[in-house]
Amino acid sequence: YESKKIKNSAHIFANAMQEGFLKNVHIEQELRKAMAHHELFMVYQPQMDVEGSVYGVEALIRWNSSHLGLVPPNDFIPLAEASGLMPKIGRFIVETVCLEMQALHQILQHPFQVSINISVRQFMDAGFLEHLLQTIEQTQMRSLSITLEVTENLFIEDVHSLLPLLKQIKAMGIQISMDDFGTGYSSLSMLRKLPIDELKIDKSFVDEMFEDDAAQKMVQNIIAIGKNFGMHIVAEGVETKEQKELLSLFGCDRFQGYYFAKPLPKEDLLKFLQENSFTCNV
Ligand code: C2E
Ligand code: MG
Ligand code: MG
Ligand code: MG
Repeated sequence: YESKKIKNSAHIFANAMQEGFLKNVHIEQELRKAMAHHELFMVYQPQMDVEGSVYGVEALIRWNSSHLGLVPPNDFIPLAEASGLMPKIGRFIVETVCLEMQALHQILQHPFQVSINISVRQFMDAGFLEHLLQTIEQTQMRSLSITLEVTENLFIEDVHSLLPLLKQIKAMGIQISMDDFGTGYSSLSMLRKLPIDELKIDKSFVDEMFEDDAAQKMVQNIIAIGKNFGMHIVAEGVETKEQKELLSLFGCDRFQGYYFAKPLPKEDLLKFLQENSFTCNV
């Protein structure tokens, strides 16, 4: 394999990509060590309301591997899922987010909401809810509102068996958001049965909204469906003023994307939150 001293992650990663299977085995081995070596950390992307105020943040994991460089979550989360590492990484995510956001709240003295992505395996893990509850208690996160972002794939299996768990989560005052909505398996009856507070329009639809009429129709339909069910609608991957304006026109009420802010390390997030106006209505 490449010399450990080479830090050019993009280069190493491009080479590693060609090695297919070997790549995955190697990443998995490195991932096993990543937590002990403090290579995993969280960044936070601000979420804005229609008036341009921040109402919350989405926590996103980052892995800066000493051997592989920066590995995108889309490359290692599926491996973590497949190799059984996800529950452990998931606990790290929940604990880190709660600790860091509670610390931020202490400084800002201002309520905001935190969205945490929860993968299917993480959600299905027997100890998930108990650990979440325990972490909320220990970090005194009760003063901040928590949203769990799940994907449609979670509901492929059996909606009915998940319902009690979702209801327990709701009873704890935690919100449920449906991430990447429209890209996976979804049915209207599923939306009707599940206690979902928010739909996230996938970035791919936002990207193609101006060029592709079907993508624009998807955006309009997702907003209409969500609104009719009384849900909030978040557009992800908003990169331009034009996108934000068209989405607002269609009735979208929440926005996230590089146009407003990139995912930020916690220190930069603090600065961003101090410099921007906040909403309290979460
Ligand atoms: P996601 O939850 O749908 O997150 C949105 C992704 O879009 C993030 O990529 C974010 O950085 C990116 N993004 C946001 N705004 C823009 C924009 O304006 N332009 C562009 N080009 N990208 C934008 P990221 O951080 O690479 O995460 C990718 C996916 O990996 C996430 O998709 C989520 O499925 C997964 N993931 C990330 N962090 C976590 C985590 O802590 N736990 C779990 N289970 N999954 C995670
Ligand atoms: Mg998400
Ligand atoms: Mg998403
Ligand atoms: Mg997405």
